[in-house]
Amino acid sequence: MPTPSYKILIAGGGIAGLSVAIELALKGHSITVLERTPTIQSVGGSQLIPPQACKVIDSWGCHDRFLKADEIREKLVIFRYADGSLIGINDLRWQKDVYGYQTLNIQREVYQRLLYDRALELGVKVKFGCKVDIIDQAIPSITLADGEVLKADLIIGADGVRSKVRTTVLGEVVEPRVSDTAYICRLPGDLVRADPLTEPLMSQPDPQGWLAPGRHAVASPGRHGAIYGIILVIDKEHDRHPPIPKDARDWKTRGDIKELRDMYQDHEPRVRRILDMVKEDDCRMWRISMLPDLKSWVSESGKVVLLGDAAHAMHPYLAQGSAMATEDATALGECLSRATEVSQVPLAMKAYESIRKPRAEKLKAASEFSGKEKHYPDGEKQRKRDELMMKGAETQLTVPKKGEKNMHPTAWVHGHDVRAHANAELDRIFGEDGTVSLGNGVPESFGEGLIV
Ligand SMILES: Cc1cc2nc3c(=O)[nH]c(=O)nc-3n(C[C@H](O)[C@H](O)[C@H](O)COP(=O)(O)OP(=O)(O)OC[C@H]3O[C@@H](n4cnc5c(N)ncnc54)[C@H](O)[C@@H]3O)c2cc1C
Repeated sequence: MPTPSYKILIAGGGIAGLSVAIELALKGHSITVLERTPTIQSVGGSQLIPPQACKVIDSWGCHDRFLKADEIREKLVIFRYADGSLIGINDLRWQKDVYGYQTLNIQREVYQRLLYDRALELGVKVKFGCKVDIIDQAIPSITLADGEVLKADLIIGADGVRSKVRTTVLGEVVEPRVSDTAYICRLPGDLVRADPLTEPLMSQPDPQGWLAPGRHAVASPGRHGAIYGIILVIDKEHDRHPPIPKDARDWKTRGDIKELRDMYQDHEPRVRRILDMVKEDDCRMWRISMLPDLKSWVSESGKVVLLGDAAHAMHPYLAQGSAMATEDATALGECLSRATEVSQVPLAMKAYESIRKPRAEKLKAASEFSGKEKHYPDGEKQRKRDELMMKGAETQLTVPKKGEKNMHPTAWVHGHDVRAHANAELDRIFGEDGTVSLGNGVPESFGEGLIV
């Protein structure tokens, strides 16, 4: 039986909201996205889009456009902070052979714009300047800040880490846990190119990383050489972890570049020179937040659900936050396709939760672990980490050959086929005997080497 076209409201027009809008519009539903900002907003640095997310984006008919906007070259290059010696090279070229897609590196504003354009092509209505104020989960309905009331068959909360919809779903406020601090600095590409010390960072345009005790930095040329962007992270346990203004959340708070330079004094000359070039106004800061595992992603009525950072905001250290939103969107679309009448929507949403929650929470834990691994103090653990990375770089030992079992530490992350997995689970849930028996497709534990 064909799925009816449901009326769906999405709170939030970030990467998660636009992703689920595309997935659901392709399945014939009527979609309105409500975004509080007056225009499409996108601050932040570049985003890595891992292979499993690229596969989904391809199914949305816009991977070619993403490929055109891609700024990655072939690999990620990782240096030791103190002397700039090479610790590892994460060659990404093999991903295409093994997973069918290679990690992309795209400026966040471009990423969001590409999703937005595709959503509009598919007939999605995106309403800016619409702040979601009250959600009635029983009807379900949304009351906007201007008093307008909108009703739907399903409401999706894609309103980010400080989600209002989440409070409705859970019946209580769950505050995100404030963690490490990130600084983002953008410099003119010409400036970095003009200095012989930093010029190689521009002419060899693979993304670069530096690992240090309690800190790490990632950088890459962007906008096809027009800019050089660097994100610097200070672990919350680091003794120089700066006091941060309470409202430092949205990349708009100015960071103290002098303090940042001081905190990176023990770094190799290239990093110090880059920081010397940053103008005071070009340094912004952000408090990285993560959510605890939530008791539920679905409201009591089953008609209001969470997706993206609203459900599982995580540390960015495996570059998986947006990718999890992409996977959520796909699974939610497949689940809704099994609801042949509106009364089945709540069961479909429960299925969505049970398919997605274990994996997203595993990635959340793995991302936190990856940060700890990156921030090891100098010593035994750090030496082992560096040896492991160097071994991989020199021999590509961890790269699976065609037909071999993929033993790469991130295979469970990048090799996940969310659409196939969701459908296998749904066949069981909506199968003839109606058994609700849910596997989650994630390993019990993950090991060392979770470095992106
Ligand atoms: C430093 C850093 C680097 C990262 N790098 C990567 C990476 O390389 N790869 C990756 O996959 N992920 C990465 N991430 C994570 C990724 O950016 C996020 O997981 C992702 O952007 C979350 O998208 P979202 O749409 O769920 O939330 P958001 O981007 O927060 O979007 C939420 C939207 O909802 C709107 N909104 C909020 N409240 C309301 C309301 N009441 N009414 C209407 N609208 C509302 C907001 O204005 C916003 O537009 C990184 C994160 C950080 C901090």
